[in-house]
Amino acid sequence: ETGKVDQVMINSLFAEFMLKKRKYANLSAVMLQNCLFEPCVGVRDDLDPRLYTILNRAIFFISQAEMNNIIIKNTIDLQEGSIMTIVDKLSIDTIIVVCIVLLSIIVLLLFLIRARSQSMSKIRTILYQDALTGALSQFGFEEETSRLLSNDERKFFIVDFDISRFENYNILHGVTQGNALLCMTIQIIEGHKDEFVLCARIYADHFVVLIAADSYELVIKRINCIDAIIKKELKDSSIIINYGIYEIVNRKLAVKEMIDRARAAKRTVKGNASNYIGLYDSAIHDKEREDGEIISCMNESLAKGEFTSYYQPKYDAHTEKLVGAEALVRWVRQDGKMIFPDRFIKLFEQSGQIIELDICMLEQVCKTQRDFIDDGINPVPISVNFSPIHLYDRSFVESVNQMTDKYRVPHHLIEIEFTESAMIENLKAVKNIITALHRSGYLVAMDDFGSGYSSLNVLKELSVDVVKLDREFMKFEDKTQKGELVVQSVIKLAKKLSLVTVAEGVEIEPQLDFLRICGCDIIQGYYFSKPVDRDTYKKMLLSRTN
Ligand code: C2E
Ligand code: CA
Ligand code: CA
Repeated sequence: ETGKVDQVMINSLFAEFMLKKRKYANLSAVMLQNCLFEPCVGVRDDLDPRLYTILNRAIFFISQAEMNNIIIKNTIDLQEGSIMTIVDKLSIDTIIVVCIVLLSIIVLLLFLIRARSQSMSKIRTILYQDALTGALSQFGFEEETSRLLSNDERKFFIVDFDISRFENYNILHGVTQGNALLCMTIQIIEGHKDEFVLCARIYADHFVVLIAADSYELVIKRINCIDAIIKKELKDSSIIINYGIYEIVNRKLAVKEMIDRARAAKRTVKGNASNYIGLYDSAIHDKEREDGEIISCMNESLAKGEFTSYYQPKYDAHTEKLVGAEALVRWVRQDGKMIFPDRFIKLFEQSGQIIELDICMLEQVCKTQRDFIDDGINPVPISVNFSPIHLYDRSFVESVNQMTDKYRVPHHLIEIEFTESAMIENLKAVKNIITALHRSGYLVAMDDFGSGYSSLNVLKELSVDVVKLDREFMKFEDKTQKGELVVQSVIKLAKKLSLVTVAEGVEIEPQLDFLRICGCDIIQGYYFSKPVDRDTYKKMLLSRTN
């Protein structure tokens, strides 16, 4: 091929194979007829002489075909693996088809890669950006903040804020106006990029910003400045925005946790014009940690029987006889410390553990009633508080039935209390549950009536048996006697609807006298008795019957 060799003598099979290659196209083969080459074997000179003889004999017995195989195996076969050999073997048409197929595959792959990267960037946008305002989302904020904190030495603060009663704004001005307000808030903040380094809408009217500043005072100054601009733009100074500030002291903390701290600080403000900025401090942190501990040890305490039912007797307003009681949970820790429900009920409602706790209280009440019956004491109905969560539980009435039947307690001795607000929020579910409870023979009470925003109409809507007037009604400080008038009207209406009225929180005689005049049926409060333990309650019942 290069002109260095004129002739090569090779096996005809190998020659045929080589000549198919394009690079040898200018060569040709000449067949040497009658040219016999005797096969030879080369050996090392220290080979055992006996082997020569064997080889010399054997070599004559190798057929021509076998010989060709040996040659092919050691020459052509070696070349077979290389791509060029394969390409050489293929015809032009085949090569074109293969190229087209390969090209199509490459184009398809490129298309897929592009589509994937487009959808990845869409997902990223969705994750990173808030669709309504175009600001960062919480995820985007977290990512950007942690990136920034790792290479920016400045002092930073996280501020979480929301617009007080934003739902009302939506109702009053419409959702479009509401959305415009949210977008405007972002625009105003983004117009102050130097001070508000990052800004995100977390959800609804909840925002979070990252501020670079040297002190709390400076942060508050900036917040007030933005606050004023928003109110000015809205031409509405009555709008209240609540802010919570967390100073980033520990940069290793997850950004989500930092936002939570700013939010915890925000929860401490009252939402009025003079108290709308909350600062995060260790007391908040301690309380939140304590909250966490309360939630985490609830199950164990329940198993240990640390939750016990106290009983607050209820008295007939006229005869002053004990006619019923309310079961109130008390958490008595192993060290004897007593924790009151206001400290843990809300937390257990958040964690969902309240369901177990309420059923546990019902069980204690059932046991108590059973024991009294067995001891020959004539029991009076005991009301049990149930959290609104039970209204979402389809098997609620069944669970109550199971418990009362387990202790063979006549159903009229159990009264079920739901708060007014729980009932209003779940009107439809409540109606069904009340019907089912009545069918099973239980009494149903509406607790804390008057504490929410419901109208008197709700008493007509729901067929409860008992209305418990909220404790707040007993504060007759109002010299115009408006409070008294409300109490009077509620009792009057309840009477018309044949409902039993219970006044809670009665502490002094004038309250009792007034309620009597109004026609209130039952009195519950410190005037007669505080909530007492089971044994004390039993003694009270006994002294009544005796
Ligand atoms: P509530 O159902 O309105 O219970 C009445 C609360 O008023 C009780 O507080 C009681 O001790 C208090 N009280 C009674 N008479 C007076 C009085 O004359 N003056 C004053 N200042 N207070 C009086 P307690 O026991 O701390 O319970 C607070 C709330 O915790 C209850 O309010 C109820 O909403 C909830 N709760 C209590 N036990 C349970 C329970 O087993 N399950 C659920 N879900 N909630 C419960
Ligand atoms: Ca109650
Ligand atoms: Ca109440």
